[in-house]
Amino acid sequence: MFKFPVKLYLIIFSTFLFSLLAACDSKDQPKADSIYLGGTIITLEDSSPSAEAVAVKDGRIIAVGNRSDILNFKGDKTHLINLQGKTLLPGFIDAHGHFSLVGVLAQSANLAAPPEGVSQNINDIIRLMKEHAASPQAKETGWIIGMNYDDSQLASRQHPTARDLDKISSDLPVLIIHQSAHLGVVNSKGLELLGINEHSENPPGGVIRRIAGSQQPNGVLEESILFKVALEVIKPKSVASLFNLIKQAQLQYVKAGFTTVQEGRASANNIKGLVAASAANLLDIDVVAYPGPDFFKSDDAFLKMMKTQPHNYIHHYRIGGMKLSLDGSPQGKTAWLTQPYFKPPAGKPRNYAGYAAMNPQKLSHYMQMAFANKWQLLAHSNGDAATDEYIKVLTATEKQFPDTDIRPVLIHAQIIREDQLDQLKKLKVIPSFMTVHTFYWGDWHRDSVLGQARAERVSPTQSALKRKLRYTAHNDAPVTLPNSIMILSSQVNRITRSGQIIGKDQRVTVMQALKSITINAARQYFEEKAKGSIEVGKLADFVILDKNPLTIPSMDLNSIKIIETIKEGQNIYRKQ
Ligand SMILES: [Zn+2]
Ligand SMILES: [Zn+2]
Repeated sequence: MFKFPVKLYLIIFSTFLFSLLAACDSKDQPKADSIYLGGTIITLEDSSPSAEAVAVKDGRIIAVGNRSDILNFKGDKTHLINLQGKTLLPGFIDAHGHFSLVGVLAQSANLAAPPEGVSQNINDIIRLMKEHAASPQAKETGWIIGMNYDDSQLASRQHPTARDLDKISSDLPVLIIHQSAHLGVVNSKGLELLGINEHSENPPGGVIRRIAGSQQPNGVLEESILFKVALEVIKPKSVASLFNLIKQAQLQYVKAGFTTVQEGRASANNIKGLVAASAANLLDIDVVAYPGPDFFKSDDAFLKMMKTQPHNYIHHYRIGGMKLSLDGSPQGKTAWLTQPYFKPPAGKPRNYAGYAAMNPQKLSHYMQMAFANKWQLLAHSNGDAATDEYIKVLTATEKQFPDTDIRPVLIHAQIIREDQLDQLKKLKVIPSFMTVHTFYWGDWHRDSVLGQARAERVSPTQSALKRKLRYTAHNDAPVTLPNSIMILSSQVNRITRSGQIIGKDQRVTVMQALKSITINAARQYFEEKAKGSIEVGKLADFVILDKNPLTIPSMDLNSIKIIETIKEGQNIYRKQ
């Protein structure tokens, strides 16, 4: 588990000493490397929510306050950084995402619907994929790869099939991944190379969809079988392409103002990649990895990796704990619910309610492993049936380890009931909501997935606040691109693609939304003493916005631009 570095205590202590000395003689003030002033500073500290200036030295905040006091820290070499009326906040912290996959997305054909892409029907997908056949990625992997098609936004409202993808190529294998990353489709050549045919049985936690009335696969792969296939197909084949992928991923995050990000459910290859990137000093932002034990060959292989990888940052990389996945996604209708889907997917019975991705014995086994080793546990659970099982197993495990607080995190929690939120409070679980669902799939959830009543309750942020649950929020990038502003607007406005409000009682204030990607997210990572607010002793991780989110009309939030991103006092992104 993350330990607070001794060095940091020393820095805080010495800063304290300096301020004592300063009270005697201001000439002995430590001199700042830089001072930010001339704009709005939102500290995210409840006791002093705004400031006029902040002084930074050696990557840390040494003073926050009014302009004249902070200017006492100005020396001959201090850079005065004039914000020119813009707004400075703590750097954003991504509560959940898949760092390396964001790089893969940048290299793959983007099959998303507007506004992130252009695909509105199967012909758009075929055209984009044909163009992508000449890409460096296709040359390197031998596959034509596309990401983020969304059946809910295609004219047919259907997943493409192998036959559709055969129109892209019949000689080269083709893989397209759904915007939930829980389903995908391969063409006939791909099925042939993978050895998936009428004799293949569904693996545990996965489904090979079939052509109606036969055992012949139709090309659509769900959950565990998709993960197995995709991990192999997309893995970088050289160090150069790995580094390129990591640079592209990093750029996507810093453009959105993130200074701490996550490699969720990391595979053995992801870990190797991060170790190499960290050793080559390629990382400008902090990347925290949560390997998935089921992505490793054996428990032994997983435990060995966990015990040899750094749990404190080395060149911006560390292990944060482990990540499990209990079910699928509501937009792909694979989330595991207690009540049936509003409209079942094609070919499924009326009472279809999704399914579990992990059996209770496995879940209990991994949970005990996490508690015994004091590793934080992130559990993906979307449906309320999956969350019931999570609560049951966690209740039993916490009884076995009464003194161990690993700050368990429930990732997504899209369909979660009030009684379950009570349980989360009792079990000290941090809910991390994928609040962008309200925009991307709000209409789809209401009209097809869940019906009105359950759709109103996706990402129940206000219900969480009522219980003083310090929830966090995420894009689940690359499911949706890293977009901090969208995380805010999706909680504050809850406006769907079609412009309607979904769940108006669950809307929160801008300040509450900001906390979900700053101070609350820092706490989720056990890093609240170093990050998440603008306070003396913390890291100088900042983001500069062109407008003040607290004062513009909330309906204009999406117009906010990220101007600069700063990590430990160094500028790492500047908008061109
Ligand atoms: Zn997930
Ligand atoms: Zn995820």
